[in-house]
Parts: sequence; structure tokens; C-alpha cells
Amino acid sequence: MIRMQGVQKWYGKFQVLTDIDLAVAPGERIVVCGPSGSGKSTLIRCINGLETVQQGSIVVDGIDLTAHKRNVDKVRAEVGMVFQQFNLFPHLTILQNCTLAPMRTRGISKEEAQATAMKFLTRVRIPDQAHKYPSQLSGGQQQRVAIARALCMTPRIMLFDEPTSALDPEMVKEVLDTMIGLAEEGMTMLVVTHEMGFARSVADRVIFMADGRIVEQAPPDQFFMHPQHEKTKQFLGQIL
Ligand code: ATP
Ligand code: MG
Repeated sequence: MIRMQGVQKWYGKFQVLTDIDLAVAPGERIVVCGPSGSGKSTLIRCINGLETVQQGSIVVDGIDLTAHKRNVDKVRAEVGMVFQQFNLFPHLTILQNCTLAPMRTRGISKEEAQATAMKFLTRVRIPDQAHKYPSQLSGGQQQRVAIARALCMTPRIMLFDEPTSALDPEMVKEVLDTMIGLAEEGMTMLVVTHEMGFARSVADRVIFMADGRIVEQAPPDQFFMHPQHEKTKQFLGQIL
């Protein structure tokens, strides 16, 4: 579903990603963790073409992002992304936030786009908020709208970049529950998070990054019980 091979990325002289090899199978749920500045956001932004790389190849759902510029649009149509800051359009209602992209980029009628949006807003348990504006919702509700909005594009892969770290503690669970629901439905997911409870219960594999490299990866049991690398042990010592 996702294959990164020999990926190298620099910002000027600073190498932010080094020798990244990563394969994600359909339906697999991956949690990415690691210290601040280790390249986690950069890694997942590369997967939907928000960042370009200088070396190596990235193939998403059979489409080679690194081969043609125009492939970026094809990949974005397959990949949904949810950010730490919810990135909703403040001047649009919740419903309009969810229907804009499907209508513009898929040529779907307003009626159909609205029906789809209501289906996903119901799935994230906020159909009653459809006609409000983002500023009228709690952080947890806004993040669930962001998830619903991504789902309205019927993505085959969902990327999450610290989706709960801007939320008040009491709202974290409602967003994680939504993500657990998606995982149970078989969505292929890559999630950057420090929610280790989520990693333990949902991830098929935990990837640990440090200094732009994938230092270690293992199923959660093994990752938490028997971390191999010194940097992983240090990191887990700090957050657990
Ligand atoms: P955090 O946990 O704080 O979100 P991260 O693991 O997501 O960190 P990245 O955001 O991927 O880390 O950044 C990796 C490194 O690349 C950092 O040292 C950062 O300063 C640097 N970096 C990120 N974006 C840019 C940019 N646009 N230009 C130059 N350097 C950048
Ligand atoms: Mg980040």
C-alpha cells in the first residue's frame, strides 16, 4: 500500500530523513513515535506529497510519487490527512467543510456530497453540529470534523499527525475512539502519536524515529517490553 525505499531528504544542508525504508500493507495500522525534531511529521508529509524528497522512491497504492509531479494529485485523492491543528475552514460551516473538496475535485453533486458528509458526521457522532461554524465547537469536536472531512474523500489510507496533542485531556478519548473505530473497519493508518495506550491496543507495528532515521520497529508488545536500541529505551523511559 505504501513503499518508501532509500528515501533521503534535506532542508538545505540539514538532512531531515536518512535511509528511510518502509513498507505498509493494506489494512495495517502503524504508530510512529520519537523525539521532537526526529522527522515524524516530515515522514508522513512525504507520503501524501506535501514534501518532496531528493532521493529514493515513494509508491502509494501503486502510484509512484517520485516519478511524476502529476502523480501527487492522484495520491492525494487516495490519502486523507488529519493534523494537530484541525485546519478547518473557519468561514465555512461544518457541513460545508465536509462537502467542499468532494464537490470541487470529484464533481459530486451538492445533494450527494451532503448525504455523504452527514453519513460521516454521524459516524463521528456529531451530526447535530452540521450547521455550526468551527469556532462554535470544542477541540475534540473540531478534530472529529477534520476526520469526517477526510473520510468524505473516501481515502484508502489515513495519515494522522499528533491528532490529539492540541486537545484538552478530556477530549482526547473521543478522538481516539473515532480512530479506533476506523482501525476496526480495516482502514490503513499511519499515526504519529505519543498516546502509547492507543499504540498498544491498535497498532500492528510501532516505528521509532530518531535523527531522521527509523531506528527500530516492532509489534507493540515487543516494542514496549523489549526495546532494542538505546535511544528507544531512553525515549520510553521519558514518556512511560
Ligand atoms: P515534533 O515531535 O516536534 O512534531 P517531528 O519529529 O515531527 O517533531 P519534523 O517536524 O519532521 O519533526 O522536523 C524534523 C526536523 O526538520 C526538525 O529539526 C525541524 O526543525 C526540521 N524542519 C522541519 N521543517 C523544516 C523546514 N520547512 N525547513 C527547514 N527545516 C525544517
Ligand atoms: Mg511533528
